[in-house]
Amino acid sequence: MLSVLIVEDEPAIADTLIYALRTENFAVTHVATGGEALAHFDRHAPDFVVLDIGLPDFTGFDVCRTIRQTSQVPILFLTARSSEIDQVLGLELGADDYVTKPFSPRAVVARVRAILRRGGAVEKEESSELLAHCEETMMIHCCGQALDLTAHEYKILAILLKQPGRVFTREQLLEQAWDDPGSAMDRTIDAHIKTLRAKLREASEEAAETIQTRRGLGYALVF
Ligand code: CA
Repeated sequence: MLSVLIVEDEPAIADTLIYALRTENFAVTHVATGGEALAHFDRHAPDFVVLDIGLPDFTGFDVCRTIRQTSQVPILFLTARSSEIDQVLGLELGADDYVTKPFSPRAVVARVRAILRRGGAVEKEESSELLAHCEETMMIHCCGQALDLTAHEYKILAILLKQPGRVFTREQLLEQAWDDPGSAMDRTIDAHIKTLRAKLREASEEAAETIQTRRGLGYALVF
């Protein structure tokens, strides 16, 4: 599990971020001042820092500079004013990105994931593979996020995942994923692939594109 330190002095904003990140399987710690942030950082070395710029003691810029003396941890700034954005862009602070308040917690989570993917911090974490299948729990995770699949969607994706690159015909998928394939039709598979792609797309555009249509033949999962 990747750990995220949220440094934010406005409780309402902190709460929504904590909730959004925990829902997505991050281990979240929240502090409200720059001093606490640096103390926590020294002791726990989190994998990611979400850093408000306007803090009661230091500015987020100060905190970022201090962290950068010892660490290349990804840092995402929360900004409230355009003057702050200018500073983020103008100074070489070593921040990885910023979001402007007000923001949707979902957008922040997406940004965190994108930065982690870019930075490679994610690669060491099994939970954040593009697609990870656990046969025991019958769950498939996309970039660390559990996919909410119907039984048929799950079976189809599990079949494709078992042999990446192999093209499965609609008939083969029906046979393997349906208990009573005779009752279903070829276009049933197409409909399920469509909803599967939509669900993957919510987690990751890249993941949605791994399911490829081979016209006239069937479907394959290609990484
Ligand atoms: Ca603030």
